[in-house]
Amino acid sequence: MKLREVLKVVDAQETSEGAGVLVKRSLGTSELDHVDPFLLLDEFRSDDADDYIAGFPDHPHRGFETVTYMLAGSMQHRDHRGNSGELLPGGVQWMTAGRGIVHSEMPRQREGLMWGFQLWVNLPARDKMCEPRYQDIAPSAVPEYTAPGGVLVRVVAGESGGARGAVQGIATDPLYLDVGLPAGARFVQPVPSAHNAIAYVFSGDASLGGESARPVGEGHLAVLGPGEAVAASAPKGDARLLLIAGRPLGEPVARYGPFVMNSREELVAAFRDYQAGTLAG
Ligand code: FE
Repeated sequence: MKLREVLKVVDAQETSEGAGVLVKRSLGTSELDHVDPFLLLDEFRSDDADDYIAGFPDHPHRGFETVTYMLAGSMQHRDHRGNSGELLPGGVQWMTAGRGIVHSEMPRQREGLMWGFQLWVNLPARDKMCEPRYQDIAPSAVPEYTAPGGVLVRVVAGESGGARGAVQGIATDPLYLDVGLPAGARFVQPVPSAHNAIAYVFSGDASLGGESARPVGEGHLAVLGPGEAVAASAPKGDARLLLIAGRPLGEPVARYGPFVMNSREELVAAFRDYQAGTLAG
C-alpha cells in the first residue's frame, strides 16, 4: 500500500466566530482556502467562559454540511423548524444544510472546558438545494476500538478496523476518525486513492507520512498527497489527531460567509432568500 506523504502543513489561526467565540481555524483561511470537498475546520478549546459564552446565535447555512464533534462541554442546538438537540462530549452532529437552515449553537455551561471541532463539507451541485437533514449521534453511538499498539480510534464516519462509522449516507463518502496514539505507537489507515485527505493534530506531536514522514505539531493541519493509506505515529509522546478524507467534487466553489454554492448568481440568490425570510422555506 502506497502511503500518502505530507504536501503541506499549515498552522491554525486564531479567529473570532459567531458572536465572539475564539476558534483556531486551519482550513478556510487565506493560506488554505479549501481541500475539496472540505471547506473549513475550526477547533474551539477554552476553559475561559469569555472565549465561548457568546456562542453562535441564529445564523443561516445553505449549500453544504456542518459537522460538530465535541470533546468536552455541551452545546444546545436549535433551528427555525423547531428541531433541537444537545451536543455532548464524544458526540457528533452531522447537519446537511441543503437549501437552508437557520440555527443557533449555544453553550449549555457558564464555566469549565469547552472543546470541539466544526468541519464544513461541501455538497455536490445536485444536492445543494436538498431538504435539510440531521444526524445527531450520541457519544455512546460513535463506534470505537483499540488498534495494535493501544491506538484508540473513534469512527465518526467511514470505516476503520472493521468498524462502520456512526454517520451514514453522505454524498462525498467521507472518513472522519479521532485517533489517539500512545507514545511510540503507529497507525495505518487505508484511504480510497481518489479521496483527498487531511489530518489535524490537536494534542501532542505526531509524525505523518511514509518514507518522507514529517513532524506535525499540535494545532497544525497536514494536507496529504496521493496514495492508498495514511500512516501516523507518535514518536515524541502521546498524540491525538483527526484524520479526515472525502471524495473531491471537482465543481466550482462560490462561497461567502455561511453560503457555499457553485456560482455568484446562486450566492446572490441565497442572500436574497435569506433577507426575504425564504431561505429555509
Ligand atoms: Fe452553524
